[in-house]
Amino acid sequence: MSDQAFYQQLQQNLASLREQGLFKPERVLASRQGAQVVSEDGRTLINMCANNYLGLSGDPETAKAAAAALDKYGYGLSSVRFICGTQTVHKELERALSNFLGTEDTILYAAAFDANGGVFEPLFDENDAIISDALNHASLIDGIRLCKAARYRYANNDMADLEKQLQAATEAGKRHKVIVTDGVFSMDGTIAQLDKIVELAEKYGALTLVDDSHASGFMGKTGRGTHEHCGVVGRIDIITGTLGKALGGAMGGFTSGRKEVIETLRQKSRPYLFSNTLAPMIAGASLSVLERISKSTELRDRLHENTAYFRKEIERIGFTIRPGTHPVVPVMLFDAPVAQKFAARMFELGVLLSGFFYPVVPMGQARVRVQLSAAHTREQLDTVLKAFEQAGRELGIIKQ
Ligand SMILES: *Cc1c(COP(=O)(O)O)cnc(C)c1O
Repeated sequence: MSDQAFYQQLQQNLASLREQGLFKPERVLASRQGAQVVSEDGRTLINMCANNYLGLSGDPETAKAAAAALDKYGYGLSSVRFICGTQTVHKELERALSNFLGTEDTILYAAAFDANGGVFEPLFDENDAIISDALNHASLIDGIRLCKAARYRYANNDMADLEKQLQAATEAGKRHKVIVTDGVFSMDGTIAQLDKIVELAEKYGALTLVDDSHASGFMGKTGRGTHEHCGVVGRIDIITGTLGKALGGAMGGFTSGRKEVIETLRQKSRPYLFSNTLAPMIAGASLSVLERISKSTELRDRLHENTAYFRKEIERIGFTIRPGTHPVVPVMLFDAPVAQKFAARMFELGVLLSGFFYPVVPMGQARVRVQLSAAHTREQLDTVLKAFEQAGRELGIIKQ
Protein backbone atom coordinates (compact mmCIF):
# COMPACT_ATOMS: atom_id res chain seq x y z
CA MET A 1 0.00 0.00 0.00
CA SER A 2 2.98 2.30 -0.31
CA ASP A 3 2.68 3.25 -3.97
CA GLN A 4 0.05 6.01 -3.72
CA ALA A 5 0.74 7.17 -7.28
CA PHE A 6 -0.60 3.84 -8.57
CA TYR A 7 -3.98 4.33 -6.91
CA GLN A 8 -4.15 7.98 -7.98
CA GLN A 9 -3.49 6.90 -11.55
CA LEU A 10 -6.40 4.45 -11.42
CA GLN A 11 -8.70 7.11 -9.94
CA GLN A 12 -7.78 9.49 -12.76
CA ASN A 13 -8.34 6.84 -15.42
CA LEU A 14 -11.75 6.00 -13.99
CA ALA A 15 -12.73 9.67 -13.76
CA SER A 16 -11.72 10.15 -17.37
CA LEU A 17 -13.84 7.16 -18.47
CA ARG A 18 -16.81 8.72 -16.67
CA GLU A 19 -16.20 12.11 -18.31
CA GLN A 20 -16.05 10.54 -21.76
CA GLY A 21 -19.29 8.66 -21.14
CA LEU A 22 -17.45 5.35 -21.54
CA PHE A 23 -17.93 4.11 -17.99
CA LYS A 24 -20.03 0.94 -17.83
CA PRO A 25 -22.26 0.80 -14.76
CA GLU A 26 -23.82 -2.53 -13.72
CA ARG A 27 -27.57 -2.86 -13.92
CA VAL A 28 -28.79 -4.72 -10.85
CA LEU A 29 -31.73 -7.08 -11.22
CA ALA A 30 -33.80 -8.24 -8.27
CA SER A 31 -35.47 -11.08 -10.19
CA ARG A 32 -34.68 -14.04 -12.40
CA GLN A 33 -33.49 -13.39 -15.92
CA GLY A 34 -36.34 -13.38 -18.41
CA ALA A 35 -38.46 -11.52 -20.94
CA GLN A 36 -39.53 -9.41 -18.00
CA VAL A 37 -37.22 -8.50 -15.13
CA VAL A 38 -37.46 -6.46 -11.94
CA SER A 39 -34.73 -3.91 -11.33
CA GLU A 40 -33.38 -3.31 -7.83
CA ASP A 41 -35.61 -0.24 -7.41
CA GLY A 42 -38.64 -2.51 -7.88
CA ARG A 43 -39.53 -1.46 -11.44
CA THR A 44 -40.71 -4.08 -13.90
CA LEU A 45 -38.98 -3.87 -17.28
CA ILE A 46 -39.26 -5.72 -20.57
CA ASN A 47 -35.82 -7.09 -21.21
CA MET A 48 -34.48 -6.65 -24.75
CA CYS A 49 -30.75 -7.06 -24.09
CA ALA A 50 -30.11 -10.59 -22.81
CA ASN A 51 -28.48 -13.38 -24.84
CA ASN A 52 -31.41 -15.46 -23.56
CA TYR A 53 -32.41 -16.42 -27.11
CA LEU A 54 -34.47 -19.49 -26.20
CA GLY A 55 -35.75 -18.04 -22.93
CA LEU A 56 -34.18 -20.86 -20.91
CA SER A 57 -32.13 -18.84 -18.39
CA GLY A 58 -34.95 -18.20 -15.95
CA ASP A 59 -37.06 -21.12 -17.14
CA PRO A 60 -38.40 -23.41 -14.38
CA GLU A 61 -37.54 -26.62 -16.30
CA THR A 62 -33.89 -25.59 -16.63
CA ALA A 63 -33.72 -24.77 -12.92
CA LYS A 64 -35.39 -28.09 -12.06
CA ALA A 65 -32.86 -30.04 -14.13
CA ALA A 66 -30.05 -28.13 -12.39
CA ALA A 67 -31.58 -28.93 -8.99
CA ALA A 68 -31.83 -32.63 -9.87
CA ALA A 69 -28.14 -32.70 -10.89
CA LEU A 70 -27.22 -30.70 -7.78
CA ASP A 71 -28.98 -33.31 -5.67
CA LYS A 72 -27.40 -36.27 -7.43
CA TYR A 73 -23.86 -35.04 -8.08
CA GLY A 74 -23.40 -32.43 -5.36
CA TYR A 75 -22.34 -28.81 -5.58
CA GLY A 76 -18.87 -29.13 -7.05
CA LEU A 77 -15.75 -31.25 -7.47
CA SER A 78 -12.85 -29.29 -5.96
CA SER A 79 -10.73 -30.69 -8.76
CA VAL A 80 -9.71 -30.23 -12.35
CA ARG A 81 -11.19 -32.76 -14.77
CA PHE A 82 -8.25 -35.15 -15.05
CA ILE A 83 -7.49 -35.59 -11.34
CA CYS A 84 -10.91 -36.39 -9.89
CA GLY A 85 -13.28 -33.85 -11.45
CA THR A 86 -15.00 -35.87 -14.16
CA GLN A 87 -18.46 -37.29 -13.46
CA THR A 88 -20.75 -39.30 -15.70
CA VAL A 89 -22.79 -36.13 -16.30
CA HIS A 90 -19.77 -34.38 -17.87
CA LYS A 91 -19.16 -37.30 -20.26
CA GLU A 92 -22.87 -37.44 -21.11
CA LEU A 93 -22.93 -33.73 -21.90
CA GLU A 94 -19.82 -34.02 -24.08
CA ARG A 95 -21.47 -36.82 -26.06
CA ALA A 96 -24.76 -34.92 -26.32
CA LEU A 97 -23.00 -31.79 -27.60
CA SER A 98 -21.09 -33.83 -30.21
CA ASN A 99 -24.36 -35.37 -31.41
CA PHE A 100 -26.07 -32.01 -31.47
CA LEU A 101 -23.29 -30.29 -33.41
CA GLY A 102 -22.53 -33.23 -35.70
CA THR A 103 -18.92 -33.66 -34.54
CA GLU A 104 -16.85 -36.56 -33.18
CA ASP A 105 -16.00 -35.32 -29.71
CA THR A 106 -16.33 -32.33 -27.38
CA ILE A 107 -14.39 -30.93 -24.42
CA LEU A 108 -16.06 -28.78 -21.75
CA TYR A 109 -14.64 -25.60 -20.23
CA ALA A 110 -15.79 -23.25 -17.48
CA ALA A 111 -16.54 -20.64 -20.17
CA ALA A 112 -16.32 -20.09 -23.92
CA PHE A 113 -13.68 -17.50 -23.04
CA ASP A 114 -11.57 -20.40 -21.75
CA ALA A 115 -12.41 -22.61 -24.73
CA ASN A 116 -11.13 -19.89 -27.07
CA GLY A 117 -8.23 -19.03 -24.78
CA GLY A 118 -7.09 -22.65 -24.78
CA VAL A 119 -7.69 -23.84 -28.33
CA PHE A 120 -4.83 -22.28 -30.35
CA GLU A 121 -1.67 -22.77 -28.35
CA PRO A 122 -1.89 -26.59 -28.13
CA LEU A 123 -2.67 -26.98 -31.85
CA PHE A 124 -0.60 -24.38 -33.69
CA ASP A 125 2.95 -22.99 -33.48
CA GLU A 126 5.31 -20.66 -35.32
CA ASN A 127 5.16 -22.81 -38.47
CA ASP A 128 1.44 -22.18 -38.83
CA ALA A 129 -0.85 -19.32 -39.85
CA ILE A 130 -4.04 -18.09 -38.19
CA ILE A 131 -6.30 -16.12 -40.50
CA SER A 132 -8.78 -14.23 -38.39
CA ASP A 133 -11.81 -12.04 -39.08
CA ALA A 134 -11.22 -8.44 -37.95
CA LEU A 135 -14.38 -8.43 -35.80
CA ASN A 136 -13.77 -11.70 -33.97
CA HIS A 137 -14.66 -11.90 -30.28
CA ALA A 138 -12.12 -10.72 -27.69
CA SER A 139 -11.61 -14.27 -26.41
CA LEU A 140 -10.51 -15.47 -29.87
CA ILE A 141 -8.14 -12.52 -30.13
CA ASP A 142 -6.65 -13.33 -26.72
CA GLY A 143 -6.40 -17.05 -27.54
CA ILE A 144 -4.57 -16.24 -30.77
CA ARG A 145 -2.19 -13.94 -28.85
CA LEU A 146 -1.21 -16.85 -26.61
CA CYS A 147 0.07 -18.88 -29.52
CA LYS A 148 3.15 -18.36 -31.68
CA ALA A 149 1.52 -18.81 -35.09
CA ALA A 150 1.76 -16.01 -37.67
CA ARG A 151 -1.36 -13.83 -37.67
CA TYR A 152 -3.26 -12.66 -40.71
CA ARG A 153 -6.35 -10.50 -40.41
CA TYR A 154 -9.12 -10.11 -42.98
CA ALA A 155 -11.78 -7.39 -43.14
CA ASN A 156 -15.05 -8.44 -41.51
CA ASN A 157 -16.91 -10.99 -43.58
CA ASP A 158 -14.90 -9.97 -46.67
CA MET A 159 -14.28 -13.11 -48.73
CA ALA A 160 -12.00 -11.40 -51.25
CA ASP A 161 -9.75 -10.21 -48.44
CA LEU A 162 -9.86 -13.64 -46.80
CA GLU A 163 -8.63 -15.16 -50.07
CA LYS A 164 -5.83 -12.58 -50.24
CA GLN A 165 -4.71 -13.50 -46.73
CA LEU A 166 -4.88 -17.22 -47.57
CA GLN A 167 -2.63 -16.55 -50.56
CA ALA A 168 -0.20 -14.57 -48.42
CA ALA A 169 -0.01 -17.37 -45.83
CA THR A 170 0.49 -19.92 -48.60
CA GLU A 171 3.28 -17.84 -50.16
CA ALA A 172 4.92 -17.54 -46.75
CA GLY A 173 5.12 -21.35 -46.78
CA LYS A 174 3.04 -21.87 -43.65
CA ARG A 175 2.50 -25.51 -42.67
CA HIS A 176 -1.08 -25.39 -41.43
CA LYS A 177 -3.52 -22.54 -42.01
CA VAL A 178 -6.67 -22.06 -39.96
CA ILE A 179 -9.47 -19.63 -40.78
CA VAL A 180 -11.05 -18.30 -37.58
CA THR A 181 -14.43 -16.59 -37.41
CA ASP A 182 -17.39 -15.91 -35.18
CA GLY A 183 -20.45 -17.73 -36.56
CA VAL A 184 -22.47 -14.59 -35.87
CA PHE A 185 -21.03 -11.15 -35.12
CA SER A 186 -22.93 -9.88 -32.13
CA MET A 187 -22.79 -6.12 -32.72
CA ASP A 188 -24.42 -6.38 -36.16
CA GLY A 189 -26.16 -9.77 -36.15
CA THR A 190 -24.14 -10.52 -39.32
CA ILE A 191 -23.93 -14.21 -40.15
CA ALA A 192 -20.54 -15.46 -41.33
CA GLN A 193 -20.60 -16.89 -44.87
CA LEU A 194 -19.52 -20.34 -43.78
CA ASP A 195 -20.39 -21.92 -47.13
CA LYS A 196 -17.92 -19.60 -48.89
CA ILE A 197 -15.38 -19.91 -46.08
CA VAL A 198 -15.47 -23.72 -46.37
CA GLU A 199 -14.99 -23.46 -50.14
CA LEU A 200 -11.97 -21.21 -49.70
CA ALA A 201 -10.60 -23.49 -46.97
CA GLU A 202 -10.85 -26.44 -49.34
CA LYS A 203 -9.22 -24.48 -52.16
CA TYR A 204 -6.23 -23.51 -49.99
CA GLY A 205 -6.02 -26.62 -47.81
CA ALA A 206 -6.89 -24.65 -44.69
CA LEU A 207 -8.69 -25.65 -41.50
CA THR A 208 -11.76 -23.80 -40.19
CA LEU A 209 -12.60 -22.75 -36.64
CA VAL A 210 -15.99 -21.18 -35.85
CA ASP A 211 -17.02 -19.65 -32.52
CA ASP A 212 -20.76 -20.18 -32.58
CA SER A 213 -21.65 -18.59 -29.24
CA HIS A 214 -24.41 -16.43 -30.77
CA ALA A 215 -25.92 -19.29 -32.78
CA SER A 216 -25.68 -22.65 -30.99
CA GLY A 217 -29.21 -23.78 -30.14
CA PHE A 218 -31.21 -21.66 -32.57
CA MET A 219 -29.58 -20.94 -35.95
CA GLY A 220 -30.29 -23.41 -38.75
CA LYS A 221 -33.43 -25.47 -39.32
CA THR A 222 -33.00 -27.54 -36.18
CA GLY A 223 -30.98 -25.00 -34.20
CA ARG A 224 -27.57 -26.69 -34.56
CA GLY A 225 -25.86 -23.43 -35.39
CA THR A 226 -24.41 -21.33 -38.18
CA HIS A 227 -22.95 -24.42 -39.88
CA GLU A 228 -26.48 -25.79 -40.26
CA HIS A 229 -27.78 -22.39 -41.39
CA CYS A 230 -25.09 -22.32 -44.11
CA GLY A 231 -25.42 -26.00 -45.08
CA VAL A 232 -21.93 -27.07 -43.99
CA VAL A 233 -22.61 -29.47 -41.08
CA GLY A 234 -19.67 -31.89 -40.83
CA ARG A 235 -17.39 -29.58 -42.83
CA ILE A 236 -16.14 -27.27 -40.05
CA ASP A 237 -13.00 -28.53 -38.32
CA ILE A 238 -13.46 -26.93 -34.91
CA ILE A 239 -16.54 -25.37 -33.30
CA THR A 240 -16.31 -23.47 -30.02
CA GLY A 241 -19.31 -22.17 -28.14
CA THR A 242 -20.96 -21.22 -24.88
CA LEU A 243 -23.52 -22.76 -22.56
CA GLY A 244 -24.07 -19.25 -21.19
CA LYS A 245 -26.34 -17.89 -23.91
CA ALA A 246 -29.13 -19.82 -25.66
CA LEU A 247 -28.17 -23.21 -24.19
CA GLY A 248 -29.37 -22.47 -20.66
CA GLY A 249 -27.56 -19.24 -19.84
CA ALA A 250 -25.64 -20.16 -16.70
CA MET A 251 -22.03 -20.53 -17.78
CA GLY A 252 -19.68 -22.97 -19.42
CA GLY A 253 -18.14 -23.43 -22.83
CA PHE A 254 -16.92 -26.12 -25.17
CA THR A 255 -14.72 -26.99 -28.10
CA SER A 256 -15.94 -29.64 -30.53
CA GLY A 257 -14.37 -31.37 -33.51
CA ARG A 258 -12.34 -34.40 -34.61
CA LYS A 259 -11.38 -36.78 -31.81
CA GLU A 260 -7.62 -36.28 -32.19
CA VAL A 261 -8.13 -32.51 -31.78
CA ILE A 262 -10.22 -32.92 -28.63
CA GLU A 263 -7.83 -35.52 -27.21
CA THR A 264 -4.91 -33.13 -27.78
CA LEU A 265 -6.79 -30.36 -25.98
CA ARG A 266 -7.47 -32.68 -23.00
CA GLN A 267 -3.71 -33.23 -22.77
CA LYS A 268 -2.49 -29.69 -23.41
CA SER A 269 -5.13 -26.97 -23.14
CA ARG A 270 -4.23 -24.82 -20.15
CA PRO A 271 -7.68 -23.53 -19.08
CA TYR A 272 -8.77 -27.20 -19.04
CA LEU A 273 -5.74 -28.54 -17.21
CA PHE A 274 -5.40 -25.79 -14.64
CA SER A 275 -8.97 -24.73 -13.85
CA ASN A 276 -11.82 -26.34 -11.97
CA THR A 277 -14.35 -28.61 -13.61
CA LEU A 278 -17.72 -27.26 -14.78
CA ALA A 279 -20.26 -27.47 -11.90
CA PRO A 280 -22.30 -30.66 -12.27
CA MET A 281 -25.62 -28.82 -11.96
CA ILE A 282 -24.71 -26.80 -15.05
CA ALA A 283 -23.75 -29.96 -16.92
CA GLY A 284 -27.05 -31.59 -15.90
CA ALA A 285 -29.14 -28.58 -16.87
CA SER A 286 -27.31 -28.23 -20.21
CA LEU A 287 -28.06 -31.89 -20.95
CA SER A 288 -31.76 -31.32 -20.31
CA VAL A 289 -31.69 -28.22 -22.54
CA LEU A 290 -30.11 -30.22 -25.40
CA GLU A 291 -32.72 -32.96 -25.00
CA ARG A 292 -35.51 -30.43 -24.98
CA ILE A 293 -34.40 -28.57 -28.09
CA SER A 294 -33.54 -31.77 -29.95
CA LYS A 295 -37.06 -33.11 -29.39
CA SER A 296 -38.84 -30.03 -30.69
CA THR A 297 -37.92 -26.85 -32.56
CA GLU A 298 -40.78 -24.98 -30.87
CA LEU A 299 -38.56 -22.50 -28.98
CA ARG A 300 -36.30 -21.95 -31.96
CA ASP A 301 -39.34 -21.38 -34.20
CA ARG A 302 -40.91 -18.93 -31.76
CA LEU A 303 -37.64 -17.00 -31.54
CA HIS A 304 -37.49 -16.66 -35.34
CA GLU A 305 -41.17 -15.62 -35.51
CA ASN A 306 -40.53 -12.95 -32.87
CA THR A 307 -37.44 -11.81 -34.75
CA ALA A 308 -39.23 -11.55 -38.11
CA TYR A 309 -42.14 -9.67 -36.49
CA PHE A 310 -39.91 -7.19 -34.67
CA ARG A 311 -37.69 -6.56 -37.69
CA LYS A 312 -40.71 -5.87 -39.90
CA GLU A 313 -42.52 -3.63 -37.42
CA ILE A 314 -39.54 -1.55 -36.32
CA GLU A 315 -38.84 -0.68 -39.96
CA ARG A 316 -42.52 0.10 -40.58
CA ILE A 317 -42.40 2.62 -37.71
CA GLY A 318 -39.53 4.32 -39.51
CA PHE A 319 -36.34 3.15 -37.81
CA THR A 320 -33.27 2.00 -39.71
CA ILE A 321 -31.96 -1.44 -38.84
CA ARG A 322 -29.14 -3.61 -40.06
CA PRO A 323 -30.89 -6.01 -42.44
CA GLY A 324 -30.74 -9.71 -41.66
CA THR A 325 -32.49 -12.60 -39.95
CA HIS A 326 -30.65 -12.94 -36.65
CA PRO A 327 -32.37 -12.11 -33.31
CA VAL A 328 -29.70 -9.45 -32.74
CA VAL A 329 -31.33 -6.36 -34.24
CA PRO A 330 -29.16 -3.23 -34.33
CA VAL A 331 -31.43 -0.19 -34.45
CA MET A 332 -29.22 2.48 -35.95
CA LEU A 333 -29.20 5.94 -34.35
CA PHE A 334 -25.72 6.89 -35.68
CA ASP A 335 -25.01 9.63 -33.12
CA ALA A 336 -23.52 8.54 -29.75
CA PRO A 337 -25.33 11.06 -27.48
CA VAL A 338 -28.64 10.28 -29.25
CA ALA A 339 -28.12 6.55 -28.64
CA GLN A 340 -27.42 7.24 -24.97
CA LYS A 341 -30.47 9.47 -24.58
CA PHE A 342 -32.59 6.98 -26.43
CA ALA A 343 -31.62 4.04 -24.21
CA ALA A 344 -32.24 6.17 -21.11
CA ARG A 345 -35.69 7.22 -22.35
CA MET A 346 -36.56 3.60 -23.18
CA PHE A 347 -35.58 2.66 -19.63
CA GLU A 348 -38.03 5.26 -18.31
CA LEU A 349 -40.66 3.76 -20.60
CA GLY A 350 -40.03 0.32 -19.08
CA VAL A 351 -37.74 -1.23 -21.71
CA LEU A 352 -34.27 -2.48 -20.96
CA LEU A 353 -31.80 -2.24 -23.86
CA SER A 354 -28.22 -1.19 -24.45
CA GLY A 355 -26.77 1.67 -26.42
CA PHE A 356 -23.47 1.04 -28.23
CA PHE A 357 -21.16 3.68 -29.59
CA TYR A 358 -17.52 4.27 -30.42
CA PRO A 359 -15.15 2.54 -29.64
CA VAL A 360 -17.37 -0.57 -29.38
CA VAL A 361 -18.78 0.13 -32.86
CA PRO A 362 -17.25 2.41 -35.55
CA MET A 363 -17.54 6.19 -35.21
CA GLY A 364 -20.90 7.48 -36.49
CA GLN A 365 -22.57 4.06 -36.19
CA ALA A 366 -24.06 4.39 -32.70
CA ARG A 367 -27.07 2.20 -32.09
CA VAL A 368 -29.27 0.48 -29.60
CA ARG A 369 -29.13 -3.28 -29.86
CA VAL A 370 -32.31 -5.29 -29.47
CA GLN A 371 -32.09 -9.02 -28.78
CA LEU A 372 -35.20 -11.10 -29.26
CA SER A 373 -36.07 -14.14 -27.19
CA ALA A 374 -38.48 -17.04 -27.58
CA ALA A 375 -39.81 -15.95 -24.19
CA HIS A 376 -41.12 -12.59 -25.47
CA THR A 377 -44.88 -12.51 -25.97
CA ARG A 378 -46.43 -10.64 -28.88
CA GLU A 379 -47.96 -8.26 -26.35
CA GLN A 380 -44.53 -7.47 -24.87
CA LEU A 381 -43.09 -6.85 -28.33
CA ASP A 382 -45.97 -4.50 -29.14
CA THR A 383 -45.32 -2.59 -25.90
CA VAL A 384 -41.65 -2.30 -26.84
CA LEU A 385 -42.51 -1.13 -30.36
CA LYS A 386 -44.83 1.54 -28.94
CA ALA A 387 -42.07 2.74 -26.65
CA PHE A 388 -39.70 2.90 -29.65
CA GLU A 389 -42.26 4.99 -31.50
CA GLN A 390 -42.74 7.38 -28.60
CA ALA A 391 -39.03 7.81 -27.82
CA GLY A 392 -38.28 8.08 -31.54
CA ARG A 393 -40.75 10.96 -31.96
CA GLU A 394 -39.63 12.74 -28.81
CA LEU A 395 -36.00 12.65 -29.92
CA GLY A 396 -36.86 13.57 -33.52
CA ILE A 397 -35.51 10.29 -34.90
CA ILE A 398 -38.75 9.40 -36.68
CA LYS A 399 -41.34 11.71 -38.14
CA GLN A 400 -45.00 11.88 -37.14
C1 LIG B 1 -20.28 -14.52 -25.29
C2 LIG B 1 -19.20 -14.96 -26.19
C3 LIG B 1 -18.07 -15.62 -25.70
C4 LIG B 1 -17.85 -15.82 -24.23
O1 LIG B 1 -18.69 -16.80 -23.72
P1 LIG B 1 -18.60 -17.16 -22.17
O2 LIG B 1 -19.06 -18.58 -22.09
O3 LIG B 1 -19.50 -16.22 -21.47
O4 LIG B 1 -17.18 -17.00 -21.75
C5 LIG B 1 -17.13 -16.07 -26.61
N1 LIG B 1 -17.27 -15.85 -27.93
C6 LIG B 1 -18.33 -15.20 -28.43
C7 LIG B 1 -18.45 -14.99 -29.91
C8 LIG B 1 -19.32 -14.72 -27.58
O5 LIG B 1 -20.35 -14.06 -28.08
